[in-house]
Amino acid sequence: MPYAPQVLDSALDAVGSTPLIRLDRIAQLEGLQCNLLGKVEYTSAGGSVKDRIAKRMVEVAEREGKLIPGHSVVIEPTSGNTGIGLAMACAVKGYSVIITLPNKMSLEKEAALRALGAEVVRTPTEAAWDSPESHIGVALKLQREIPGGIILDQYRNVNNPLAHEYTTGPEIVEAVTATPSTSARPSSGKVDALIAGAGTGGTVTGLSRAIKGKHNKDCVVVAVDPKGSILAVPEELNADGEGSQYVVEGIGYDFIPDVLSRAEVDIWLKTADAESFEAVRKLMRHEGLLVGGSSGSALSGALRWLKSDAGKKVAQTKGANVVVLLPDGIRNYMSKPWFLKMALEAEPSPLAHHIAEVLKIS
Ligand code: PMP
Repeated sequence: MPYAPQVLDSALDAVGSTPLIRLDRIAQLEGLQCNLLGKVEYTSAGGSVKDRIAKRMVEVAEREGKLIPGHSVVIEPTSGNTGIGLAMACAVKGYSVIITLPNKMSLEKEAALRALGAEVVRTPTEAAWDSPESHIGVALKLQREIPGGIILDQYRNVNNPLAHEYTTGPEIVEAVTATPSTSARPSSGKVDALIAGAGTGGTVTGLSRAIKGKHNKDCVVVAVDPKGSILAVPEELNADGEGSQYVVEGIGYDFIPDVLSRAEVDIWLKTADAESFEAVRKLMRHEGLLVGGSSGSALSGALRWLKSDAGKKVAQTKGANVVVLLPDGIRNYMSKPWFLKMALEAEPSPLAHHIAEVLKIS
C-alpha cells in the first residue's frame, strides 16, 4: 500500500485498508489468462478480516448507548478472529471481554486473546450450536449471569455484513478501478469474480452487496464452505461428509447464521482440508504470502471454479479481475500440525543437499 504519512489515533485506525495483491505466479502455474488478485487481510491491526466487524460492532453499540464504560462486559462466541478484533477494540476502549472459543481453535488464537486481556472459555467443538455447551450456549449463559454482559452477536448483527459492504468491498472496487489497463497489464476495469469463504457469511454477503449491488451486477460471487458444514446451496452439496469434522478454522457451521444471505451468492463450492492446505503452500511458496488455512480454502475454490465449465470463460479472458479474499495469516496457526508438517517436513531441496555437503552433515 502507498504509505500514508499521518499519525493514527489508535490501533483501531489501522484496521482494514488492506492491500490487493496480484497472484501472478500462481495464475501462470495454473494457466490462467485473467488477473488473479488476493485481498490480504492479515495486514489489518488485529491480523484478520474480522477486525473490521469488531470495530464497527463496538463503535455502533457505543453510539447507541448499549456499551457503557466501566460497566459493560463484552461477551462473544467466535472461532477466534472476531474475538481478537473485539479484544483489541476493548483494550483500546477499556471494556472487559470474555470470548467463548470451541476447542478446535488454535492455541495461538487463545494466546493472542489472553495477551489482549480477554478471558477465554473453551467449549466442546462437537456441541451443536443450540446446545447449552456450545460456544454460543456458554456465551448466552454468561450473559445472563454477568452484570453488564452484552453479546454483540456477529451471527445476527447487521454491522457484520455492513462492515464489508462499507469497507472491504469498496476497497476492492477502488483498487481495481484505480489501476489502469495497460498492454502489459490489461484490466477490464471492474471486478469480474469474487471468491470468499463463509463462516458467519458476513464477508461474502457484504462483498456481494458492495460489488454486485453497487459496482458490477454481472460479477460472479463464489462462496466456499468446508466439507462437513451445511452452508452451501443447493443442499445436496452438503451431503458429502455431512457432520464430519474439518481442521480448517473460521469457515463452515452447523446452522445458517442470520447475516448470511445465501441468495446473494451465485455459486457454492465445498472444499476439503487437504486442498486448502495445499493452496496455502502455494500462496507461501509462490507468492510469499503467510496466510492461514481458510485463505487456502478460498484459493482452492477459486482455482476449481476457474477450471470448471462455469468459470472457464473468465479464467481465459485477459484483463478479467478475479479477487480471492484471504482472511487471516499464519500467525494464528504456527503450532498446528498441518502447518508444521508443510513447513518442516518438506522434501529436502537440492540446496539443502548442497548445504549438508558443504557442512559435512549427514
Ligand atoms: N476465515 C477465517 C480465518 C475466519 O476467522 C472467518 C470468520 N469466521 C472467516 C474466514 C469467515 O468470515 P465470515 O464470518 O465473514 O463468513
